[in-house]
Amino acid sequence: MFRKILIANRGEIACRVIRTAHRLGIQCVAVYSEADRHAMHVAMADEAVCLGPAPSKESYLVVDKVIAAAKQTGAQAIHPGYGFLSENAAFVEACQREGIVFIGPPTQAIKAMGSKSAAKRIMEAAKVPLVPGYHGEDQDPQHLKNFAQQAGYPVLLKATAGGGGKGMRVVWSEKEFDAALASARREALNGFGDDTMLVEKYLTKPRHVEIQVFCDQQGQGVYLFERDCSVQRRHQKVLEEAPAPGMTPELRQQMGEAALRAAHAIGYVGAGTVEFLLDEDQSFYFMEMNTRLQVEHPVTEMITGEDLVEWQLRVAYGQPLPKMQQDLQLHGHAIEARVYAEDPDHDFLPATGRLAYLRTPTETQHVRVDTGVREGDDVSIYYDPMIAKLIVWDENRERALERMSQALAQYRIAGMTTNVSFLKRVVDHHAFRAAELDTGFIERYQDGLF
Ligand code: ADP
Repeated sequence: MFRKILIANRGEIACRVIRTAHRLGIQCVAVYSEADRHAMHVAMADEAVCLGPAPSKESYLVVDKVIAAAKQTGAQAIHPGYGFLSENAAFVEACQREGIVFIGPPTQAIKAMGSKSAAKRIMEAAKVPLVPGYHGEDQDPQHLKNFAQQAGYPVLLKATAGGGGKGMRVVWSEKEFDAALASARREALNGFGDDTMLVEKYLTKPRHVEIQVFCDQQGQGVYLFERDCSVQRRHQKVLEEAPAPGMTPELRQQMGEAALRAAHAIGYVGAGTVEFLLDEDQSFYFMEMNTRLQVEHPVTEMITGEDLVEWQLRVAYGQPLPKMQQDLQLHGHAIEARVYAEDPDHDFLPATGRLAYLRTPTETQHVRVDTGVREGDDVSIYYDPMIAKLIVWDENRERALERMSQALAQYRIAGMTTNVSFLKRVVDHHAFRAAELDTGFIERYQDGLF
């Protein structure tokens, strides 16, 4: 196993990676910005290297500085966490040049998924189901409009280089098409420097169901079942759970196998997530593949009893997958809530300040808190204002929801506005209890949630 690794991240995910690495006897190097000198991940690591000023562009995102820190400390491998450099092909290539192992997929897999339209062409060839639409190179507006007509309105225009919901427009009828295309193109050009668009049929009540996959360097792959992440606010996940309510063993197997075809089609290695839209008639369609460990991976860990970071480390070192498909079992139900410093009453504006008082729910076999902050720490404007991920497990969904509600009620945070009460209202909502899930949930029930 590796002797020493560097974690090119901060916050809860850096702390979470260090915990598993230490359990496996691996030394950890943290990196930090000047604003994070006293951060929890720095305190937990065996060594730490300062990268530079607070803004990510001058610290966590600077490839050369991260590589230099790894070389200077003799780290054999780099775990990128999520965000920052985790899906940056140039960073992976830099690691390769320096003989440092990147704990993640090969560059070609990251590049293949970097463009939504190129990804769809690969998936089409691999017989992974796609939402009807157009993802070719002809960008003539009339040509795109013809495809919209064929798919049938409403359609969704998406920037092929897009992410984070930017460069997306729903078009409800043909007469809105030209204006929507022009405005989506402007946004895409500004945001990503590329205004290539694809057209998709817009599903009006889809669920977001994603499959966790894992592949080793020997060419084996498994899927660790699904997560339902339908409760979203502006395409950002709010709650995630596993298994997906109402999922049948047959559909799970079909989606799992489709996800593995997707992974194998791009020569995938390591932890990855294939995101699907699940329509009301149980048809599912490939949306995208995230080539990293996801924020919501703990719900999968809770229902499988596996440590996905341990799997990542083993696979990156060249070991075969710890388990085969038939050895993986799903137990009970897990839910994750993302606790944020933000103001639900003011359009979820990020909040900043000092955590003057912090009482987290008691951690038990059933309740897990993944965090990167302690009482007295600052939540600054520079980074994602996540305070913690609260994950609960129980034998079934109903009991897991009850646990989640109780755990949220135990939270006490003074010093800044948080979304804890909002999360509790979602979890306690009758429609959420009844698993009436789709991506429009929060908008539909907003009157009862705010
Ligand atoms: P991004 O990369 O910008 O996050 P995605 O393609 O992953 O964009 O889509 C983000 C979200 O938009 C999805 O989680 C889903 O809620 C919604 N979405 C995407 N495609 C469709 C579609 N064809 N129909 C309905 N909703 C969609």
